[in-house]
This record gives sequence, C-alpha cells and structure tokens, in this order.
Amino acid sequence: MPPLRLREMTWTEVEALDRSRVVALMPVGAIEAHGPHLPLITDGIIAHSMVTAAAARLEAAELTPVLLPPLDYSAAPFAESFPGTISVAPETITALITDVASSLASWGIPVMALANAHLDPAHLGALHAATTAVRENQKILVAFPDLTRRPWGSRLTEEFRSGACHAGQFEGSVVLAARPEWVREEVRTRLDPNPTSLSTAIRLGQSTFIEAGGPQAYFGNPAGATWEEGEQTIQILGQILGDAVLQELGMISTS
Ligand SMILES: [Zn+2]
Repeated sequence: MPPLRLREMTWTEVEALDRSRVVALMPVGAIEAHGPHLPLITDGIIAHSMVTAAAARLEAAELTPVLLPPLDYSAAPFAESFPGTISVAPETITALITDVASSLASWGIPVMALANAHLDPAHLGALHAATTAVRENQKILVAFPDLTRRPWGSRLTEEFRSGACHAGQFEGSVVLAARPEWVREEVRTRLDPNPTSLSTAIRLGQSTFIEAGGPQAYFGNPAGATWEEGEQTIQILGQILGDAVLQELGMISTS
C-alpha cells in the first residue's frame, strides 16, 4: 500500500485515523541548479524517494506514515547566480516548518520528520533552527537526520562522503532510479568528473558553487550514475529516515 498523502485526504479521513500512531513526513527540497543534466527539483526528488522508502519501514513498526505536501523552496545561496535557482531567507523556512509543526500538534500528531537532501549550509541551519524551536515548544517530536552529520552520512556512498556530492554520481543515480525521464542523458554521459569537495570548500569559507570550483553547478561524477546505485541509495535513505523517527520515539536505541 502506498503511504497516505495528506493533501489528497478529507478531514473526516484524517479524523478517523488513530492519530497517536501517525508519523507526518515532510519532503524538503530546493529549486536549485544541479548541473546541465539534472532538473532544478533534484533535491525534492531525492527527498520524495526518501519518505516513500521510509514509509515502508514505519509501517512495519505498526506506525501510520502520512506524507505532507513537499516544501520545495529553500535557502540556496551557493547556487544563487545560476538562473532557475530560487533562494529564500533561511528564517522563512524555519518559520514555515515551525508553523506546520504547531498545526500538526494541534490535531494530535505525535511526531513529524524532515526528509532533506539539500545540503547548502544556510538551509541546513534553517532546518536545525526549526527543529530546535519545535523541540522547545514541546508539543510534537521532530526527527531530522542531517546527512552531513554522524552517524547518518557514513551510511552513504563514497562520492557522497568525499563531499563532491552535488549533481554527481550520488544524486544522479537517485534521479535515474526515481525519475529517469527527467535526466538529460545525452548531456550527463558526456560530462567530465569534477572531484572538487564541496564540504572542504565550505570549511575554507567559500560561499558559492563558482568559488568552490563548480562552474556548471555540479560536483562529483555525473557520468558514473546508475539506476542500480540509485535504487540502493533510496533504500539507505529510507532506512536513515525511518531509524531517525524510531529513535525519536524511543523505539530503537540511539547508539
Ligand atoms: Zn542536490
């Protein structure tokens, strides 16, 4: 059974749920340049794949996953100079997530989870600020596995861990698995690898893809992407999100 999607339900169907078992899953994406071969919504595709894979794990734990409408806007200052990128203030994202959490709590939802693969530091900061604010309100639990932090990122591919992980093999593989019709294959297969590490560039204080050495808004090896790797990564992302929720609920240990 595919998971319930909140925006397609009626209020009476929501009322009839055993809401004490509901986990509200929010896919968080971005409208951001992802090379000349992947769509602007790449991070949203990854987040959507992540929640769908996590839903199966949560159902197995006798919980009821409900997919929230996706949040496809984000802070994306690294990619701002590339046409198509939309970057909003981090405070806007923090406020929006905090407000959604309050609304969910008001109708008795015990936990929400953020599925995010957009790693711009400004955006991650906005999500951490939101989770802190939601926790301080103490009305609803919130799970947010930050893929750039331990233990989560260590479960992902070598390219991801190298930091050369924007529109390269890692992300391209997920899009090939989830939305193959949206990949510009004739472009992707001809791109040279760009092994520059974005995470190192961020540590060095660089603040745009251009400064960091990504003139076409990609890092990593787009031509190395495969459907198989994408399927595998989606399963791992689903496990990460599922585990983060179960930890938040105290159903598995945090070690
Ligand atoms: Zn991305």
